Amino acid sequence: MTSIVAEPWFRAPSLRRVFELLNADGGEVRVVGGAVRNTLLGLPAGDVDLATTWHPEDVAERAKGAGIKVVPTGIDHGTVTLVIDGIPYEVTTLRRDVATDGRRAEVAFGTDWKADAERRDFTINALYADAKGEIFDYVGGLPDIDSRTLRFIGSAAERVAEDYLRILRFFRFFAHYGHGRPDSEGLKACAQARSKLSTLSVERVWGEMKKLLAAEDPGRALLWMRQAGVLGAVLPETEKWGIDAIPGLIAAEKIFGWKPEPLLRLAAIVPPEAERLEAMAARLRLSKAEEGFLAQFAEAPAIAATLADAALDRQLYRRGAEGIIARLRLSLASARRKSETDPAFLAETAAFHRLLARAERWQRPVFPLSGADVLKAGVPAGPKIGELLTELEDFWIDRNFNVDRATLVARLESRVRSR
Ligand code: ATP
Ligand code: MG
Repeated sequence: MTSIVAEPWFRAPSLRRVFELLNADGGEVRVVGGAVRNTLLGLPAGDVDLATTWHPEDVAERAKGAGIKVVPTGIDHGTVTLVIDGIPYEVTTLRRDVATDGRRAEVAFGTDWKADAERRDFTINALYADAKGEIFDYVGGLPDIDSRTLRFIGSAAERVAEDYLRILRFFRFFAHYGHGRPDSEGLKACAQARSKLSTLSVERVWGEMKKLLAAEDPGRALLWMRQAGVLGAVLPETEKWGIDAIPGLIAAEKIFGWKPEPLLRLAAIVPPEAERLEAMAARLRLSKAEEGFLAQFAEAPAIAATLADAALDRQLYRRGAEGIIARLRLSLASARRKSETDPAFLAETAAFHRLLARAERWQRPVFPLSGADVLKAGVPAGPKIGELLTELEDFWIDRNFNVDRATLVARLESRVRSR
């Protein structure tokens, strides 16, 4: 198991200042959660979160006194962010649950590390590291790190009933860190409570799904999610379509060096139907950019491997490159996957590869005429201008953009004369 003390993030002077500030006068602070978990798993640590026995007001006051920038991130929940050398450290006061209703928890501040550990979700997320790098494990997280087991702390069914978002977190963390099969008690609890997912805010649901889809290989997690009926509860669009495209896409990402994109993974498991995807985007409150990507994807034509270059260029011009590139990537991934067992698909794979490279290189040509040219040719301002421009643009596109400005102006003038 990797030792935490050698890690640059752990030795950073900024983190040392947090320790100095709060490991004093009878108070204590420890690192907790993702940074400890990832380091012990031999993975890069993300944000460094800390837990402390100090009350949030005291954390803020001490930090201000030391000239440290303080952001009151969620003082009511006990969280204060300290920014040192531009690095944000979330410091949260130890808590224990007082009441929970499946969506929100009422918490009380405390000084009991074990109680704080027990209100967290999974054993691997409840490990603490003190300033010296000593690890504190109150819930059996260390053996689960070793075996890469994702396990709820305490009774899975009870923990899920306290906060239904934990259903999605279970599959999210399994996607990133799990090995083998998910813990069967956890899986069962998630399957049984899946109908409660609809009570969560859609932003939280999509936030978790997006993180799940960003895992290096979310394939097994999606499979288990589907098995448990959880995927259908969150993304009913995937039900008939299925998730069979995922393994091929993940393999293609590795082979062709594509950056894993949650949205392309999502596109791979939903039908490319504009109306359904628009409704899905609205339901999950996707961002404008995410919604736009899905719209382009759905509206892009299915591209045949035999499509001629010029025809591809015309499609790119008319439909935009983003959706077509997404379509081509999925087609390439699927053909490549099939070619592993059926050499008949090798030619198709090569053809998609070439089309994709062309689409990625493609730069939108600029139509050489504008409204000013039509006005100059003697057409009065009005809808006729746009009509003529569109007609000439179509002429130019149909000739693969190989018509120069002079020819287009001559054609424009002859069209105006003949009216
Ligand atoms: P990462 O930031 O890498 O996604 P993380 O483990 O830091 O992973 P966060 O969502 O940042 O995850 O939460 C920080 C910690 O807070 C978790 O490790 C866990 O201990 C606790 N936690 C977060 N959300 C919940 C929850 N819904 N129920 C119980 N504990 C939670
Ligand atoms: Mg975190």
